[in-house]
Amino acid sequence: MEILCTENIQALKSLVHSATQIAVLGHTHPDGDALGVTAGMCLWLQQCGKESVTCVLPDTPATHLQFILPPSVRYLFHDQAPDRAAACIAEADLIILMDCNAFSRTEALQPHLEASHARKILIDHHLNPDRDAFDLVFSTPDISSASELLYWILKACSESGGDTLPAAFARTGSRSDAEGRVSFPDIAIGTALMIGMTTDTNNFANSVFPSTFRMASELIAAGVDRDALLQHIYQSYRENRVRLMGYMQYEGLHTLPCGAAYMIMTEEVLRRFDLHEGESEGLVNVPLTIADIRLSVLLKQEKDHFRVSVRSKKGTSAQQLAVRFFHGGGHENASGGKLHIGTDIPAAGDAAAYVENALNTFLA
Ligand code: 5GP
Ligand code: MN
Repeated sequence: MEILCTENIQALKSLVHSATQIAVLGHTHPDGDALGVTAGMCLWLQQCGKESVTCVLPDTPATHLQFILPPSVRYLFHDQAPDRAAACIAEADLIILMDCNAFSRTEALQPHLEASHARKILIDHHLNPDRDAFDLVFSTPDISSASELLYWILKACSESGGDTLPAAFARTGSRSDAEGRVSFPDIAIGTALMIGMTTDTNNFANSVFPSTFRMASELIAAGVDRDALLQHIYQSYRENRVRLMGYMQYEGLHTLPCGAAYMIMTEEVLRRFDLHEGESEGLVNVPLTIADIRLSVLLKQEKDHFRVSVRSKKGTSAQQLAVRFFHGGGHENASGGKLHIGTDIPAAGDAAAYVENALNTFLA
């Protein structure tokens, strides 16, 4: 991988080595990948001897994903502690942004990032990274997840020339060889990264590369308990969530002859099933199991807007639909965006007509 060249790896080490206060950031409504990769990075920085490391996230993570947060990592959530989150970013001399391609994806943190004079690193796998905003960029769409990318970066760090390493880096990992040199993977970091990769690939259903299986294989061999983490990710929901999934598929699924499907979760439905953040994860993928459907859209109402999730089969671009009709973006086959009530559509009840027109126009 070109981005793992010696120059980039040495630049990462030297930025980390000279930093004293480090803030590690991820995107709004953090998913498993954002939480896994930020956790992995914070643990690694701690193992490198960095004493002031904070993970700053725009929103409190969904309850069923909170098992990912390592107890030893200091977290600040902007929705709970806006002033402390802002101060942490302002005081940082190194900021590492992960699993998103631009400041704007951190929403409430964006103005604080723009005002910061810290050195900045981007580690991401989305299209169109905003390279100019960073001192160092690790970005490629040809990888499963930000978590997988960090796995290969940390491996390259631990394997690159010992005598040029700052002393702190020799402590990376949990196992040491005969010369006392410690090697990656460390189990806690490996577990966090395995979770991020597993959720972003939908448990190896999409965005899987040869390198993804190599990573999984190495981590299982190193002792990461994949069965345990699968149980946490996919078998720890509340009953409400299962009932909502059934209701939406039975009552809320609309299919169009152009080959698209959509579902709308209104505030009324969300209230009725008492749905919590992150509990509709996976629903948008279901319509793609229908032979004739190549594009699936899920809308979820949030006060003055709908959050939009888009998924597509190969050959149809979820990303282009999100860019053209929903102010969004993401990956070729998995993207997201927003539909604003009052500007994009007059009222919440107009969402279905907007989405149908968007899908018919896009697939015409
Ligand atoms: P999800 O549907 O799971 O929320 O998001 C799928 C993908 O789309 C993720 O990679 C996410 O980063 C991206 N995405 C979600 N919402 C937005 C958005 O509002 N803007 C952009 N640019 N990307 C988004
Ligand atoms: Mn991701």
